[in-house]
Amino acid sequence: DALWLALLSAQRLDALSTSNRKLQSEFVRRQATESSLQQNQARLKLILDMTDHSHDALFIIGLKPLELIYINRTCWLELGYNEEELRNLLQIAPEDVVPDLQAWANAIRDVAASRGSIILQQQVRMRSGQMLPMEVSMRYLERHGRGHLICVGRNNSAQLQIAARLEQLSQQDGLTGLFNRRYFDKTLAAEWRKLRRMDLPLGLLMLDVDHFKRYNDSLGHQAGDAALKALANVLQESLLREGDCACRYGGEEFVVILPGTDINECVRVARRLHEAVRQLNLPHPQSPEGRLTISVGAASMIPTAELSPHDLVAQADSALYQAKSEGRNRTCSAP
Ligand code: GH3
Ligand code: MG
Ligand code: MG
Repeated sequence: DALWLALLSAQRLDALSTSNRKLQSEFVRRQATESSLQQNQARLKLILDMTDHSHDALFIIGLKPLELIYINRTCWLELGYNEEELRNLLQIAPEDVVPDLQAWANAIRDVAASRGSIILQQQVRMRSGQMLPMEVSMRYLERHGRGHLICVGRNNSAQLQIAARLEQLSQQDGLTGLFNRRYFDKTLAAEWRKLRRMDLPLGLLMLDVDHFKRYNDSLGHQAGDAALKALANVLQESLLREGDCACRYGGEEFVVILPGTDINECVRVARRLHEAVRQLNLPHPQSPEGRLTISVGAASMIPTAELSPHDLVAQADSALYQAKSEGRNRTCSAP
């Protein structure tokens, strides 16, 4: 009996210590899991915190159903809201924040359909009412069987300003500030196509300063430059109709595009230019007139398939040549 009891107690002790060991190892395992969970949570918190402080607006859109899953702090801070305000507004009146709602809807639909990515340029309205240009890149990602869009928005007003300035510089003449030859070619071709559709005339004046070589020779190149600037101002100020466009064609030659203007009206505009140059009254010691004058060739045609802008330029050019040969300081018209 005593032996049996001893055996039983030994068995119990054994079982107890086995279960103790199990408990112990379970405890260690849990501790490890918990600490790794804590580590993961800390890491997630760090990531979200860093994301919040990203310079860019980050947001995640869930698809089917469409849902704004996440926005970082920059989204609402940049727009002047707090998070709840922005989320509410996007729920009840999204067009107050993104006026071109249709463009956003289209972009979201396209990226979702192609499972690709897209970059869209959009105006976003701040709480103050001020508009903010934003470049938004959207990318499709599927997670847990659901489509998502990861979106990054960046206020790119500075880049847009630089781009606009570069665009302006690329089409401007450095000396006079008028449009340059490149812009003239582009604009003349565009007006030609437009007026051809409308069956309306396209007018063109070609101007050349008279005896300008002598002007430079007698008064100096700098005075010549100043005279070209003054003439450019006169041109600019004498053009009354919207769409009229004065360009420096090269050297001391200028062109004026007059959309929708027939030859009679072109000649009237040219007379106005002669009068304005007369009033400018720049002394020219070596001109028969005693002052700086211009010669003008005028042409106008209704664009057709058989003709091209080149023909219009050629006509104005030969009219200018005629004005020169007939004694300068006058306008001749083609043909
Ligand atoms: P015409 O009445 O026949 O037109 O005589 P012109 O002397 O004006 O003609 P020409 O083509 O012989 O001379 C043009 C002059 O214009 C020569 C050139 O030095 C001057 N010129 C061209 N571009 C500029 C410029 O940007 N600044 C200055 N100061 N002069 C220029
Ligand atoms: Mg010339
Ligand atoms: Mg000249």
